[in-house]
Amino acid sequence: MQSFETLGLKPEILRAIKEKNYDKPMPIQAKTIPATLEGRDLVGCAQTGTGKTAAFMLPILHQLTKQARPQVVVVAPTRELAIQIGDNVREYGKYLPFTSALIYGGVNIEPQIKALRKGVDILVATPGRLLDHMRRRNVSLKSVRHLVLDEADRMLDMGFIRDLQQIMSDMPKQRQTLLFSATMPPEIQRLAKRFMTNALEINISPPTAVAEGITHRIYPVPHSLKKQLLVDLLRDEPVDSALVFTRTRRGADNLARYLERKNISVTRLHSDRTQGQRQQALNGFRSGKFKILVATDIAARGLDIPQVSHVVNYNLPECVDDYVHRAGRTARAEGTGFAFCLMAPEEIDLYNDLETKLGRELLTWVSHPGFDYTKEPKMTSPSEYRQQHARRGGPSRGRRSGASSARSSKPSRLSIRSDSGRKEEQAVTESSTARYGRIRRVAGSR
Ligand code: AMP
Repeated sequence: MQSFETLGLKPEILRAIKEKNYDKPMPIQAKTIPATLEGRDLVGCAQTGTGKTAAFMLPILHQLTKQARPQVVVVAPTRELAIQIGDNVREYGKYLPFTSALIYGGVNIEPQIKALRKGVDILVATPGRLLDHMRRRNVSLKSVRHLVLDEADRMLDMGFIRDLQQIMSDMPKQRQTLLFSATMPPEIQRLAKRFMTNALEINISPPTAVAEGITHRIYPVPHSLKKQLLVDLLRDEPVDSALVFTRTRRGADNLARYLERKNISVTRLHSDRTQGQRQQALNGFRSGKFKILVATDIAARGLDIPQVSHVVNYNLPECVDDYVHRAGRTARAEGTGFAFCLMAPEEIDLYNDLETKLGRELLTWVSHPGFDYTKEPKMTSPSEYRQQHARRGGPSRGRRSGASSARSSKPSRLSIRSDSGRKEEQAVTESSTARYGRIRRVAGSR
């Protein structure tokens, strides 16, 4: 059996990982560490929760010597991921004489400027703020010998590709580059080709694989009943802590408020919240102060939140990759967990993609015992009802019930909840019951 000792890491690093109770390298570490120690460039295709951070950080820490700073730059797409990597860097490197700093936006820039002027060996950064510091000449990257791009496909999705190119152009060509990505779209392959030399490719699992140990369940339910079903599931299922994903920021706020009203311990995370609020939410969820975290996909990538027993897709994600990332928040480090989808009739196309790419066998259709699927939601007040309809562009003031329009056999105009105002409402020419019937048939044909 391979051990960290046989990989030849420095005693200071071995001591630090012993304190983290890592007894043997995870597969990505067994593959990545020897190649990185040899100084090779590397492109790693790996699913979340596989031990990626130690895979790149341990061999880089091993190679560092005292010299011009910064020596290492790790770039990650989100502040939360950067903070998490920064924490790991400090823990893995605690017995080595190297310093690190976190560089991300949304917070006061002055302390970062001070840290950069003093000089640090390892920078963990999000692309925008790092570029900002480079432009202000707070930091030069001419001394960098190791660059890590983590969650590269996510950075591409977030529009950071040009920032990355600029950051890399400022670094010496003689350096080691490690690129990690859950998927390898052509843009990422081009980036790797242009900025890396003879990179070794490491594929830990196919890009659309979800971790073993996750039980996937599909709950077909009209959109109007999702909130009630969620409350029932949180009450009846063995939920220690659950991460609930909504499509939009406003959706996350609304759902969190609803759960609060039901006396459920809940917090929320999305990009409209301040950095302080985001960190508080994450810390509160990690520490167990809050049992439920309602979040947008900002929380889906890379975040290591131990002991998430359930991931709930309150809205189905827009693509299979996002599903893989969301589900990857549970069953971390080879554990077990549940991934639920509350699927409204309008989401059948998204479901079809999941089924095609992940396979039918994985996705079990269930209906929650005892839940009344025929009941329409009660509006808490007429004003709330009017507000909801105004937002949906639905019936005008004074019309009595949204439920009746959804049940009508005439073509109706339903909306896929337009929570942030960014996603446009969708015209549907079938009644919701007709569409739901179609889903039932899909379910029945399995
Ligand atoms: P990561 O993919 O880097 O976010 O790591 C996922 C989780 O696995 C984190 O909680 C790490 O602390 C943990 N981990 C990383 N390497 C090991 C290891 N060799 N043995 C046990 N746990 C590990």
